[in-house]
Amino acid sequence: MLTTKVQNELKEIFADRVKFDQVERIVYSHDMGTLPDAIDAMIDSTPDAVVQPQNSGEVQKIVKLAQKEEIPLVPRGAGTSGYGGAIPTKKGVVVDFTRMKEVVEVNKNEKTVTVEAGVLWQDLEDYLNKEDLALKLYPTSAPGATVGGWIAEGGSGIGSYEYGFIKDNITSLKVITPQGDIKEFIGKELDLICSLEGITGFIIEATIEVRKKIDNYPIVATFGQVEDLSSAILAIKEANIPLWTLNIATSEHIAWKQKATNEYLVPEKYMGTFVLPDDTPNAIKEELKKIIETNKGTPLNEELSFKEWEERFYPMSFKKLGPSLIASESIIPIENLAKFINKVKKKYGEEVAIEGFMVGPDKVTLLSFVLSDERKKIQFPLAYTSSLVIMDEAKKLGGENYSIGLYFTDEAEDFYGTKRLNKVWNYKQQADPNGIFNPGKIIPAKLDKNSPAKLLKKGMKAAKLGTFIYGMAGKLFIKNNPKDFSGYDIPEDMAKDTFGCAQCGFCRSVCTVFDADPWESNSPRGKWFLLQQYMKGKIDLNKETAHKLYHCTTCKRCDEVCQTNIHLAHHWLAIRPILSEEKGYEITSLDVLRDNVLNGDNFWGLNNSNRGNWMAEDVEYQDEGKVAYWAGCWASYVMDDMPHNVTKVLNEIEQDFVYFDEDETCCGLYLGLGGYYDELGAKIKQNIELFKERGVETLLLSCPGCLATFNDFYPQFAEMLGLDWDIETKHVTAYMAEKIESNELELTHEIPKTITYHDSCHLGRWSNLYEEPRTILQAIPGSEYKDMKHNREDGLCCGLVAGFTDLDTVQHSGVKRVQEAEEVNADICVTACAGCGSQIYNTAHALNSDIDVIDISAMVCKALGIEPKESGDNIIAYMEQAVQLLQNSQVIEADKKDKIVNE
Ligand SMILES: Cc1cc2nc3c(=O)[nH]c(=O)nc-3n(C[C@H](O)[C@H](O)[C@H](O)COP(=O)(O)OP(=O)(O)OC[C@H]3O[C@@H](n4cnc5c(N)ncnc54)[C@H](O)[C@@H]3O)c2cc1C
Ligand code: SF4
Ligand code: SF4
Repeated sequence: MLTTKVQNELKEIFADRVKFDQVERIVYSHDMGTLPDAIDAMIDSTPDAVVQPQNSGEVQKIVKLAQKEEIPLVPRGAGTSGYGGAIPTKKGVVVDFTRMKEVVEVNKNEKTVTVEAGVLWQDLEDYLNKEDLALKLYPTSAPGATVGGWIAEGGSGIGSYEYGFIKDNITSLKVITPQGDIKEFIGKELDLICSLEGITGFIIEATIEVRKKIDNYPIVATFGQVEDLSSAILAIKEANIPLWTLNIATSEHIAWKQKATNEYLVPEKYMGTFVLPDDTPNAIKEELKKIIETNKGTPLNEELSFKEWEERFYPMSFKKLGPSLIASESIIPIENLAKFINKVKKKYGEEVAIEGFMVGPDKVTLLSFVLSDERKKIQFPLAYTSSLVIMDEAKKLGGENYSIGLYFTDEAEDFYGTKRLNKVWNYKQQADPNGIFNPGKIIPAKLDKNSPAKLLKKGMKAAKLGTFIYGMAGKLFIKNNPKDFSGYDIPEDMAKDTFGCAQCGFCRSVCTVFDADPWESNSPRGKWFLLQQYMKGKIDLNKETAHKLYHCTTCKRCDEVCQTNIHLAHHWLAIRPILSEEKGYEITSLDVLRDNVLNGDNFWGLNNSNRGNWMAEDVEYQDEGKVAYWAGCWASYVMDDMPHNVTKVLNEIEQDFVYFDEDETCCGLYLGLGGYYDELGAKIKQNIELFKERGVETLLLSCPGCLATFNDFYPQFAEMLGLDWDIETKHVTAYMAEKIESNELELTHEIPKTITYHDSCHLGRWSNLYEEPRTILQAIPGSEYKDMKHNREDGLCCGLVAGFTDLDTVQHSGVKRVQEAEEVNADICVTACAGCGSQIYNTAHALNSDIDVIDISAMVCKALGIEPKESGDNIIAYMEQAVQLLQNSQVIEADKKDKIVNE
């Protein structure tokens, strides 16, 4: 426990970048790996606090304070390693480097880049590519892992065939020593920092060698026998083929991946991915193909080769088949590759999948996976012993551990060599006499008598003994039986995906709410971990955890990158009725909206008979007919230029349409967001009946939120309610794009401006409408169209929905969007969603930006020569009201709500 004095000092240094709350401490108590409960229980891995420094000065301050008070410090990058290195062993403070993510300098002459420790490898690669440079090597966890973390792990990965380990490609490291000084390490001194997991110093900056940007040319080939793959690799070495990277996979690895993704594109055989720089002379490419064929390999066609190569970031995509994965990693001499794989397969047959990559032409790093189920009290620990057996097999064949971390300190002498280990230990004792830098890691208990990992070491020893005694049983227990996800108080598919999350962290950096406030508990990975702990009975679903589960804009960015392809945003919606209706944790502002919708039939609780006030007097519409236009609450009241302009366009192209006027009510989106499924069901029934009464077959919508609600909730609920749902839905951008393509809508008036477009999440990721709005904008004469940095599937969320749980996130996201529009020098940022349009308009206005924010329907009107309506002042006024509603929004317990209402 930290004293109040220490807590206050931490608050003084870090302000709101220190957390002491239980939820945050729990999500920082683990890494990507899963241990059997019995071993896990041997360490108390929940820290007392987590801090997020944003500069070296703050790291120095925490180190000096920790030395004075003898508080253990655990450095953490993104927690994507699996050997316990980033896990606390004596409580203390986790130092999370997430916010230190600046690229400090690119030196094009020297071909080096200097970056802060928290930069993600993928972000760095993207940055360098713009400078016509590229990384020499990176881990396959690049979308999630940090520069500091991989250097501290001693990594190798993609590019290691040519460039070896990351340590061999570092010019210098700037480090905070255990005494709180800044010291630069170069040359041989790097041995005192690299692959030592922060026990001798915290990396704050790294200068890394880079190379000229070169396109890659992958040749992927399959082999019937591992011996053939192995001899092809040896022949490639013999022929000096200048490979950049060489990855391998066993037939099981391919089969599991294909089963998990349900895409059966390649033969389920041994696979080699041989990657050359694209500018390699054709003769060498041909020679490589010849070597492959001579060794009975069959190259895949070019398209499949590139597709497989793109898959390199997803080595654990099959995790949900487990739902747990037991992994073990070893580096072995390449000449023993076939022997090793045959031995492991002889023991475990098809129950083990192996993949790996070459480190130089002589060694291969192999990652072996066994599927298991961590919920099974006996089977899982026994299956876990397989990882130790596999590592022992590697050792017998001249192999070594890949990494040491917390669990394998007994192997440190073999791993580092006696000389280096002693040197490190001597340095550590002198630099960190109190042993506060990442205690329990790397140094074996025989050297570090105070190692908190002693007990754990006993546990690992017992597991090893188990390996021997239970060798056979382990072999039997490894068979992964069918699993059951019923019996939890969350839906079965959600329970399954909770354990299906690989904890790879790819979803963190793309998440809208994490980006605004990068605490692990805000990330999708953090949400899954909390749910998992809840399902294991380790934590309660209380107000704090409920808040974390609600805190999501449902933007679906996480779905786009997920390692295991679990449908995250759907689950973040589906958890809401459980939180609100079953557990009684509600969000106050959504509760107000529910009342508004129930009493007033619209989001704002306003008189619904004014709903259609935006309709121009000269616009003609019907009460009944096959095609109807649905405006939506937000557009009807806030951004009312949108329906006004859309209906003008519909008249212009003589499209008959029904408008429901005051009979149009809320689609139900806000009831869905609040998890009020009973009321949502009633609303859906009411609207379906309305459409039937009026003879509607096609619904044209200008609100993407309504569109997603009709497409997602209506079919589900209609089925449950025994109703027919056979209405075709179409967003007006899809409709107008079709009309442009068929020449029924001709944009004739010039708009001589630079235009960019903001992809709404509901229109893009939820409804897959990316090109249609662009078709319209690119048809406007005289204009120039430019995409923002983040666009289409990768488009940023405007952040508006975060308002129910955190207004700062709304502001952060809005500012980012306006900045991106400014970066492409756009005159106009076009939106096609009333919510996004209002948010971006309001933000641009607040920032005094020169950018005009205009709805796509207004652009079409202008290009048709129709004077569009504008809603600017209306938007500002309503956004102010929205802030009033949301500023005190909080998660409350249902009985507390009664009290608040009574008061
Ligand atoms: C999908 C997937 C693919 C992977 N592929 C590879 C691969 O190709 N090659 C590979 O080597 N590994 C791989 N890994 C393992 C892991 O991603 C890497 O080791 C990774 O680089 C760890 O980075 P991190 O930022 O997550 O560090 P963390 O896991 O947070 O930390 C790793 C260790 O470094 C220490 N540390 C963190 N930051 C610092 C710092 N600034 N200063 C000092 N010490 C620090 C931590 O205490 C811990 O001991 C993979 C993991 C996943 C999930
Ligand atoms: S849907 Fe968006 S905000 Fe929600 S967890 Fe995923 S990325 Fe984050
Ligand atoms: S949700 Fe997907 S991307 Fe995120 S940590 Fe889990 S597996 Fe990785």
